[in-house]
Amino acid sequence: MAHLGRRPTAHQRSALEWLNPESTVLGCGVVSRLEIDHRVDWATSHLTLFDLLDRMCDHHQWLKTIDGWALVPGRGKRAFVPPDDPRHPRNAGGEQRPPPG
Ligand SMILES: [Zn+2]
Repeated sequence: MAHLGRRPTAHQRSALEWLNPESTVLGCGVVSRLEIDHRVDWATSHLTLFDLLDRMCDHHQWLKTIDGWALVPGRGKRAFVPPDDPRHPRNAGGEQRPPPG
């Protein structure tokens, strides 16, 4: 049985750093001490998938862990929203809402 490591491989890590030199969080310019965020919890996914990794500074990581903030669905640099925001993945529920206005 293949062992799938929890940590991203060195290759995944460099690819991620090349694609996202900054924090994935829109408006966050932190470029040092970034954590690699597991978009899907390890206990759920049992895989470290390149597509499921975002980079986040410790401040935003903290907001996510403590206050339930999350990146809006998508890829690359994007908004990071509080749990009561309609764009929060928990509120989106797989259903596309029409844009306001
Ligand atoms: Zn940040």
